[in-house]
Amino acid sequence: MAQLVAHLHGMQGVRGSNPLRSTLIEIIRVPDPSTRNNPLDCFAHSGPPSTKSFASPTISIGVLEHRKGVFVSSFSTAETVMGFDALFNAEELGWRDKARKFSLERIQPQIDEDFEIQRLRTELIGEMGELGMLGMHIEGYGCAGASAVSYGLVCYELEAVDTSWRTHISVLGSLAMAAIAKFGSEEQKQEYLPASARGELAGCFGLSEPQGGSDPSNMLTKAVKDGDHWVINGAKRWIGIANIADYAIIWADTEDGVRGFIVPTNTPGFTATPISNKLSMRASIQCDIDLENVRVPESLRLPLAKGLGAPFSCLNEARYGIVWGVMGAARAAIDVAVTFSKERILFGKPLAATQITQTKLADCFLEFEKGVLLSHHIGKLKDAGTLTHDQISVGKLNNVREAVGIVSTVRSILGGNGVTADYPIMRHMMNLESVRTYEGTDEVHALVVGRALTGEEAFR
Ligand SMILES: Cc1cc2nc3c(=O)[nH]c(=O)nc-3n(C[C@H](O)[C@H](O)[C@H](O)COP(=O)(O)OP(=O)(O)OC[C@H]3O[C@@H](n4cnc5c(N)ncnc54)[C@H](O)[C@@H]3O)c2cc1C
Repeated sequence: MAQLVAHLHGMQGVRGSNPLRSTLIEIIRVPDPSTRNNPLDCFAHSGPPSTKSFASPTISIGVLEHRKGVFVSSFSTAETVMGFDALFNAEELGWRDKARKFSLERIQPQIDEDFEIQRLRTELIGEMGELGMLGMHIEGYGCAGASAVSYGLVCYELEAVDTSWRTHISVLGSLAMAAIAKFGSEEQKQEYLPASARGELAGCFGLSEPQGGSDPSNMLTKAVKDGDHWVINGAKRWIGIANIADYAIIWADTEDGVRGFIVPTNTPGFTATPISNKLSMRASIQCDIDLENVRVPESLRLPLAKGLGAPFSCLNEARYGIVWGVMGAARAAIDVAVTFSKERILFGKPLAATQITQTKLADCFLEFEKGVLLSHHIGKLKDAGTLTHDQISVGKLNNVREAVGIVSTVRSILGGNGVTADYPIMRHMMNLESVRTYEGTDEVHALVVGRALTGEEAFR
């Protein structure tokens, strides 16, 4: 060991500004391939990856470096301490494992680069379709008809790697497909749902407008009947994947109130322009949509959608996924903090052995465990068909707020490393700022919960 360390001190770093860290990657040949070359190999093991051979603090830096880009592994300290698996049945855990494998194999290896260069890898949509994840909680029409808890676990695993991919499954399945499943005609369901479930068609959901997304009752987009067609004019903002979608669910005001339309995105007058200066969720795309004399036939109006309650019920589906998803980001952050603090030696001992760090970790863990239990409770209510929108607001408000707090605390545990892209923490922090805003901001959900408690409406 002494020889190794001396050798390290004499070497130049091969990249980055930390020569010690860089050279260690060159030198360390770890004798436990089960956890090192392919993170998915861990599925064969019931326990944690062995890090015993990394007991020395010097070599432990190599562990961290090795894990760069693979911070979510098949083993989670947070889940183990919680006894997470005991909450779920075999089918639910099957979906969890499938989503975890997909996230680790297909999203994680490139997510840092995707985030950096603002790249949406559209090929993954088809792959999620093959795995049955798109519209997975819808019954029939080629959809999996899985339980709400199973869907929640898929959201949890996707967001453990990156919010963008949980958001994509949400936009595609919980918003666009759910709108058709809930409010579409039989012909519309037959035409759009099976192809969307396979990932061959992609839909987006256009509700928010530039003048203020929190107040959709102030909708300026108008649809006017013209014979057996509708002519739609207006603008939408922040619409996920609108520039690559095949169809958009557009909500527009009519003389009879708000109605929903399936608008093929190649319809003349439909323009989607990506919002390019976004510093959050950079592995996904949101767009401004312009609608200029967009003509759609009556057959593309969602016949059962009447009033704002229709888009709100789709939003509740998506909010439900958020409740679970953000706990995935929280779990990933806690696992990074545990690993880092055990391996970071300060004042002659691991950071993990200091009381302040343990208090921070314990506080993060408590909120993670409570958040998962809340998600599970809400999932069970949804599966029982009794979930109310007030209860969804409790989950969305609490879990996003706590995930933001957990990730921020973890950032502090990592010190300066926490603000680098060597760790996924800043990426999660930036992503979660979007999540606390979309599908109803913190403030809007607080007002919903307040109304449920008091019977008093305080929005206006
Ligand atoms: C990354 C991202 C993806 C999105 N994807 C979609 C999508 O696919 N489809 C879609 O339709 N929309 C989407 N949205 C839009 C999103 O739903 C809106 O951003 C959200 O509703 C908030 O609207 P706003 O940004 O216009 O903020 P505003 O509504 O202008 O709110 C500004 C502030 O005012 C606060 N506020 C509002 N009302 C009150 C009140 N009564 N009392 C006190 N404070 C209040 C809000 O909480 C917020 O803090 C997305 C947004 C983002 C950021």
